[in-house]
Amino acid sequence: MARYIFITGGVVSSLGKGLMAASLAALLQARGYRVRIRKFDPYLNVDPGTMSPYQHGEVYVTDDGAETDLDLGHYERFTGVSARQSDNVTSGRIYQTIIQKERRGDYLGATVQVIPHVTDAIKAFAQADTEDLDFVLCEIGGTVGDIESLPFMEAIRQLRNDIGYENTVLVHVTLVPYIAAAGELKTKPTQHSVRELTSLGIQPDLLLCRCEQPLPESERRKIALFCNVRKEAVIPALDAKSIYDVPRQYHEEGLDTEVLRAFGIDNKGKPDMARWDDVSERYTNPEGEVTIGVVGKYVGLQDAYKSLSEALVHGGMANRVKVNIEWLDAEMFENPEDLAAQLEPLHGILVPGGFGERGSEGKIASVKFARERNVPFFGICLGMQMACVEAARNTSHIAGASTTEFGDTDEPIVGLITEWMGAEGLEKRAEDGDLGGTMRLGAYPAKLDGNSHVRAIYDSEEISERHRHRYEVNTKYVETLENGGLIFSGMSPDGELPEIVERPDLNWFVGVQFHPELKSRPFDPHPLFASFIKAAVEQSRLV
Ligand code: GLN
Repeated sequence: MARYIFITGGVVSSLGKGLMAASLAALLQARGYRVRIRKFDPYLNVDPGTMSPYQHGEVYVTDDGAETDLDLGHYERFTGVSARQSDNVTSGRIYQTIIQKERRGDYLGATVQVIPHVTDAIKAFAQADTEDLDFVLCEIGGTVGDIESLPFMEAIRQLRNDIGYENTVLVHVTLVPYIAAAGELKTKPTQHSVRELTSLGIQPDLLLCRCEQPLPESERRKIALFCNVRKEAVIPALDAKSIYDVPRQYHEEGLDTEVLRAFGIDNKGKPDMARWDDVSERYTNPEGEVTIGVVGKYVGLQDAYKSLSEALVHGGMANRVKVNIEWLDAEMFENPEDLAAQLEPLHGILVPGGFGERGSEGKIASVKFARERNVPFFGICLGMQMACVEAARNTSHIAGASTTEFGDTDEPIVGLITEWMGAEGLEKRAEDGDLGGTMRLGAYPAKLDGNSHVRAIYDSEEISERHRHRYEVNTKYVETLENGGLIFSGMSPDGELPEIVERPDLNWFVGVQFHPELKSRPFDPHPLFASFIKAAVEQSRLV
């Protein structure tokens, strides 16, 4: 049976619980254990798919088509374990399942209640799909004391009894703030937050204390005393220089050793950190730098493009260069002079995924600039669709070319797709259907043209990449666009859905309908990002 590690947060939000869970999982993995990380989100949305990126950051998509919290991206990037539908659940989904069962009459006349029905559903979720694992790490979103997270806390309390205390460990992540006027680190918020947890019947085994200054022994002892844990189980967590140093830093502070000790498992060996040392060495000692402009809509909040910025950094690591990202608001680019001034210094231009018309003319103008100046260009999802619209208007002379996503058009270069082949057969959508969970989602295969640039980049003729979109490039226009120089070099295996376009006459110009950034890992950079950054390095020698 898998052992469980629960991760809760106290004092404030944004303590980096997701990164902590990912780093702990990476350390256990480096000791040879099989791990999986799960996220419990207490909000009432069924999944984050319909939430604005401004509210919630990026929506991370799994191979099996779940729209999940962005922490699942950290989990994948740190462990290399592909997340699944069963790795993220929200209160909304739990209640939806229960209410559907209640309507069907499955509860046979019982009164349906938070305890036991909601807590049972949470426990079932935690325990599903855990064969062949040594450790399941469950991160609880939100902060202890929130009304919304109470059923999750109660489920943890019960689960610790159900499967035995010896099979569970609870790590509570807290903040130890530094008060400059007093010149002191303060432990009181941590004490209060642990008291909140114990009032719910939960005693933490380890405390991971985020702090800006080293935690003196005296304060560590004080926290241990007041919070009823061993002094060694109070782990200081100072800010790291980069997220890739976090696993090593936590190991040096004793996190993995103490977790194993809490389980009563032999903790004498050491994790094999070779992978992390290499990643952090590449990140810390770059041999050059490039600047990539990301022309998007949600540039005010970088969490909205979390996987993308990570994948660019990974591409940099593959080439031993630092990648500077300029976040550019596409709406600013509707004036061509502003556009040239901002884009000229760049070594690569990337138009990422997005929804809606706002800023689209700026995106199209950026594609045009990249094409005319032969600057490396990478279009992702909406970015690829904009590259096709740009090609239609400017190299295939189709005036009025557009996408039906922005309204009626006589020249629908990109249009709504209501039928496609999924893994389970034909999938259908109604034009006026629900917005939640109804896109082409998850991994789909694509066939690459043998002579194409992308075939050489991937070093493979068949690929599988993750999708999240409602519209597709219209195959009726393929011939016209190809005559203008935009080549369709990747298609769905049945030849119906365009997956990749490229311009072979330019140095590096690729548009993809999927999201390659979701599969990039620091120790295994995605080939498209590695290649794009390589082209940017070459470009930097020209400008
Ligand atoms: N809005 C576009 C669509 O739905 C692109 C989506 C995206 O970029 N993820 O097809």
